[in-house]
This record gives sequence, C-alpha cells and structure tokens, in this order.
Amino acid sequence: MAVVTESVQRGKRAKQPTWVWLMTLTSNQGLCVYCAVAPSTTLDHEEPVADNGADVWWNFLPACKPCNDWKGKRTAMEWLIDQKLHREQPTVGFDTRRMPLRMFHGFEERVSRTRREIREASRRDWFRHHYGDVHHKNKAEMLEYLQACRGELSGYPHLPWTTPNVYVSAAAICTRRMCCGYWHPQARNLNAVILTDDQHMAFSKVAFSEGVSEGDLAAKLIVAYLMSGERKIGQ
Ligand SMILES: [Zn+2]
Ligand SMILES: [Zn+2]
Repeated sequence: MAVVTESVQRGKRAKQPTWVWLMTLTSNQGLCVYCAVAPSTTLDHEEPVADNGADVWWNFLPACKPCNDWKGKRTAMEWLIDQKLHREQPTVGFDTRRMPLRMFHGFEERVSRTRREIREASRRDWFRHHYGDVHHKNKAEMLEYLQACRGELSGYPHLPWTTPNVYVSAAAICTRRMCCGYWHPQARNLNAVILTDDQHMAFSKVAFSEGVSEGDLAAKLIVAYLMSGERKIGQ
C-alpha cells in the first residue's frame, strides 16, 4: 500500500533558510504585497499557520510588519472579502479599519502576481544556487544579506534567472548564460543585447503596468516584431 508522507510543516513555524527569505523579500520589487508602499521585512503566511497553513516557501508572501499584523489569522482573500463587506457595512465591523484606496485597488492582482513570481522555478533555483550556503543567525543579519542581495541584483542589467542555461549541470549550481554560466567555454558564442539599467527599468515598468512577467512581455515584443512585416523568418 502506498503511503504518502507529509513532509510539509503545518500549523507551526520553523526557521526558514536565508535564501527563502531573500527570494520572498525581493519579489514584488521589494515592496509589501498588501500596501505596495512599505519595504517588505516579514514573511507572511498567505494561508495562516494558525489555520494549519504550510510553513513552506510556496505559502509565503512579502509583507511589511504593520500589514502582516493587520491581516492576522486570515488568508489574503479572506482579508479582501472582509474589506469589501466593511466598505458596504462599516458599522458592522467586518474589519478594524478601512484600507486606503491605493491599497484596496489592485490588491488581488498584486497577490496573485507576486505568488506567481515566488513560485517561478528558475527564479527560485537562482536564489538557492546563489544564497543556499549562507545562514543568518538573526533577523538583523538576514536584513544585511537582503541588502547585499539587492545590491547584487541591481548590478545585473537583466534578471539573471531569465537567461537560458548554458549547460545543465549535474551539480546544483547556477549555469545561467548571463550569470555564472558566462564563464563556461560554451558561453563564448554569446551574442547578446545587454540593456542599460535605465532601459531595463523602463522595460520592467511596462511589464509591471501590463501585469505580465518580463519574459512574457519579451515574447509579446518578439511576436509583434515578426508580424510587423519588417522582417520575414529566414531572411
Ligand atoms: Zn504593507
Ligand atoms: Zn549565477
């Protein structure tokens, strides 16, 4: 008889690896997924631990401390429903207070977009490969690693995990073409367009406002380019 082993921690919290913190807190451009204004400094359990939620990366969202505390023992969608009811019936007290409009607006989209970002396998692997060996002793040390990680990421003219693998390594190491894989002999035929910081920022902003990933936006542009008639495949 097959036995399914439940290895996911539910209903309690364990100390999370440093790379999981960094992967989560750098998503949504480093901002709290709920208010979209304050920098994120906490891992919010989207499905609360108190409600038997999983204590594992796919249940995490980046949040600032005030939002995390306010959300409390609710899922993000339960919080949103409470807010909708609170707006209609403020006297009944579905929530303790009313969300500012800029926070309420796009709430659901931010949550689902950030959840997709965190669950993206190539992004996750990049953080594991680059920060899997570091272990923070306390929150202050984790925030120092976060600072260093943000610095490293801003040093790339692109998001390193969006570039292809030069080769597939048996060892669990980063072999991304425009990251660690750059040094591999097979990467010598590199013929890449490298965006400046400003160009990349502008590109990111468009992707953000369109609500798509940068990869999807690039694909859209490629399709538009091929359809434009300026270039026919094979010419
Ligand atoms: Zn917040
Ligand atoms: Zn790398």
